[in-house]
Amino acid sequence: MNKNFRKAMIAVGVLAALVSGTTHAAFPDDKPITLVVPFAAGGPTDKVARELALLMTKSLKQQVIVENTPGAGGTVAAKKVMSAKNDGYTLLVHHIGMSTAPGLFRNLGYDPMTDFEHLGQVADAPMIMVGNKDLQAKNLKELMVYIKAKGLDAAYANAGIGSASHLCGLLFMSAVQQDMTTVPYKGTAPALTDLMGGQVQLMCDQTTNLAGQLKAGSVKAYGASTLQRIPAFKDIPTLHEQGLKDFQVNVWHGVYAPKGTSKDTTDKLSAAIKASINDASYKAKMTDLGVVVPNEKSASPAGHKAHLKAQIDLWTPIIKKAGIYAD
Ligand code: ASP
Repeated sequence: MNKNFRKAMIAVGVLAALVSGTTHAAFPDDKPITLVVPFAAGGPTDKVARELALLMTKSLKQQVIVENTPGAGGTVAAKKVMSAKNDGYTLLVHHIGMSTAPGLFRNLGYDPMTDFEHLGQVADAPMIMVGNKDLQAKNLKELMVYIKAKGLDAAYANAGIGSASHLCGLLFMSAVQQDMTTVPYKGTAPALTDLMGGQVQLMCDQTTNLAGQLKAGSVKAYGASTLQRIPAFKDIPTLHEQGLKDFQVNVWHGVYAPKGTSKDTTDKLSAAIKASINDASYKAKMTDLGVVVPNEKSASPAGHKAHLKAQIDLWTPIIKKAGIYAD
């Protein structure tokens, strides 16, 4: 074989290996996987994501890191992940906001059903209406008297339009038939700091964020957003049992990859998510925070996708009827 011919054969061999993908390392390769969180660090969505990142790192044997990208009720982060490379290295951890955004935003710029791969649900967090601990009102009845007297002088904090705290506040104001001034934050972690400092009086937030403050007595609880009392917070009556009939908001969370991520990669990610949420430490931590860990069906990609669809169908007409929207 002459020298040039041999060189040419080697080049063809390298090219063939590249084309056949034999030079592609299997996912995950040697770079970290990023979980994009749509709200500020230290808040409820962030807490779930960080716990997950820790356990997914163990399961995938590759570092999983959390990146906070707050803004516009979570839609900034969703858009970021939608347009990221669909190679499995950029994922979104988002909550119920994924199902309320289509009803709320006139120009959302993405379709939660078709622009993402649905990897599984990871948490279902109840909410509690809390107030600054110096508020005189001892229960919901007294709180209603207080907010009726204060009107727009009462400040209600939330994590921006379309956030769970925003939705819970809207439902609450409509149930008590009294508007308050709403103050948006980048997440409920900074909102909680201001609530304790007295800059705002009220907020409805996931127990994931409130558990420590509730146990320490540094905020006042006025009612849970569930129909049954939350096992981890049995002493706190529900808003429903105190007269706000059927008041219910469950903040479910799921993980998403950009559309077109390969089946092999999404299978590996879903398996890692499943292993993580079934880990005893995850279950113990979530239970302590009042959060329910989804069952096998909800944690599956198909269960997640079906739930998202059902939630979009539930929330869109409610939001449209209420005439709430954002640009
Ligand atoms: N709890 C926030 C919300 O209202 C989100 C967050 O800060 O994680 O949606």
